[in-house]
Amino acid sequence: MSKEQASTEKPSYSYSRLNTHSLCAYAGYLEYIEKQWCLGNYYTLRGNGFHSSRETNFRQKIKTAQDISVDDCIEAAAEEINTQINDQEIDMKGDELRGRSKQAAAELILCDTSVLIRLDHANLQPSIMPIHVEESIAVELLDEPFDLHGVIDVVTTGFEIGDAKTSKRNMTAEGLANNIQMTMYYKLGKTFLDRENPGGFLDMIYTGKKKKAYRLPWSRTEHDVAILVARFREMHTAIEAGSFPPCRRDFWKCDPKWCGHFATCKYVN
Ligand code: SF4
Repeated sequence: MSKEQASTEKPSYSYSRLNTHSLCAYAGYLEYIEKQWCLGNYYTLRGNGFHSSRETNFRQKIKTAQDISVDDCIEAAAEEINTQINDQEIDMKGDELRGRSKQAAAELILCDTSVLIRLDHANLQPSIMPIHVEESIAVELLDEPFDLHGVIDVVTTGFEIGDAKTSKRNMTAEGLANNIQMTMYYKLGKTFLDRENPGGFLDMIYTGKKKKAYRLPWSRTEHDVAILVARFREMHTAIEAGSFPPCRRDFWKCDPKWCGHFATCKYVN
């Protein structure tokens, strides 16, 4: 099976579900089974605005082979941030947004996002020549009781799979080598592009004091895929058994800043 079509007989899992489950199985239960989704916040809106600027540029670049201006990229981000802040309930209790009006929150987020977009537009976007943007891909796993699905942000003319992240934590080559999400991209890319060994890169925008943009390449093997599938298999078994233990109380995730369920979670209140 190629893209867009997931099997109806088996559950189909995404990387985000695996990631949430790995951090706290109970949070995964609340979100993916009880459908109690967390509200957007400063970080999710900044990330979505940043992502939207890239998507807007790359979609048109397939035809024009040219980048749009940085102002147009920022405009795309503004549209995304304003839409989300006006149309959705946003968590305004975090340190960044507390006490602000929605308008002031949108302005702050856009201001901060613009700095990241400028770095990206100057340093990373010019070298990407896209042939596919935002492709939804379904992967059938014949030997498993589940399938997989996900989205690839961009595929370049060199058949490289690209993703971008904004983070206060630097990503190292070693960290990326152990990053399960890149293995998921490899598996999705192998299905979608029908290539033996797709590789890719992660574009990082470091959001700490000395902001910077840099690119790290990645490659994966079938052994990495076996490890990825083993993790999905373990999650599937837990879901089938209805076993959703909370994470450790002193784990970083179990904090009002990082878990949107904290205020109501029965394991901390
Ligand atoms: S508050 Fe802690 S235990 Fe509860 S869902 Fe969040 S991370 Fe899990």
